[in-house]
Amino acid sequence: MTSASIFDLLATRPVLFDGAMGTELMKRGLPQGVCPEEWNVDRPNVLKDIHRSYYEAGSDSVSTNSFGANRIKLASHGLEDRFYELNRAAAELAGEVRPAGRFVAGDIGPTGKFLKPQGEYEEAEFEAAFADQAEALGSGPVDFFLVETMFDLREALCAVRGIRRGSDLPVFVSMTFNRNPRGFFTLMGDSISRCVEAFEAIGVPVIGTNCTLTSSDLADCIREMRALTSKPLIAQPNAGKPEVSSGDVVVYSQPAEDFARDVPKLVASGARIVGGCCGTEPEFIRQAAAALKTA
Ligand SMILES: [Zn+2]
Repeated sequence: MTSASIFDLLATRPVLFDGAMGTELMKRGLPQGVCPEEWNVDRPNVLKDIHRSYYEAGSDSVSTNSFGANRIKLASHGLEDRFYELNRAAAELAGEVRPAGRFVAGDIGPTGKFLKPQGEYEEAEFEAAFADQAEALGSGPVDFFLVETMFDLREALCAVRGIRRGSDLPVFVSMTFNRNPRGFFTLMGDSISRCVEAFEAIGVPVIGTNCTLTSSDLADCIREMRALTSKPLIAQPNAGKPEVSSGDVVVYSQPAEDFARDVPKLVASGARIVGGCCGTEPEFIRQAAAALKTA
């Protein structure tokens, strides 16, 4: 734990998170189908290198490599029994390279499964998996939890309740919206206002949106959120729209300069925390840091 809290920093100036983890791991050779969190144990230096590159680019906080490290998601790789080890390692790796005065977010993503009636899971099962993950991550040097890329409000609320059972650390939540002609909705049909109301009711201190949208669409989404809440808002857009290149590889081709140009717009729209999602790299964060200084 660092002495000043992330809330002290949020009260002072706009805060910079990091960029993508998945695409950085692929660049460093993570094969398709391999569990990214397994590299926390098998290739720890790769993870430290990625975290270090984001801190050096100017990230105030980096997110642990634990997006898919809940028991339910790990089961798809047959690794559910190693959830504690993989989460604990994720926290340690970020903590080892953290400069003084910076932060580590314990990253928590969706289970990849659906709750009843669409799926087979009970809310209690999701909650238990998130409680276990939070306990494991929270046993390492993390400062707060970042629940992100959530496309089902019910699952996000399971995550908040579960994490609070497993740890006393603050829980931030970032939802993923699609834009359609009627506005912004999650995959499960949750509107921005429904999400904001639910997080207000359960006392989540920091909320926001990440993934799927480009920086310009995401700024519109943030503006709508800003009108509904006074909480600090997180904005982590993708590096433009995904394209499928030869070999069925998904690529994000937005140049860092274009991404950085929208950073002041995100802040003006009401974002207090800015970072990147799929396809963003340390160079995006470096340019975003420069843009924030003049925002
Ligand atoms: Zn993403």
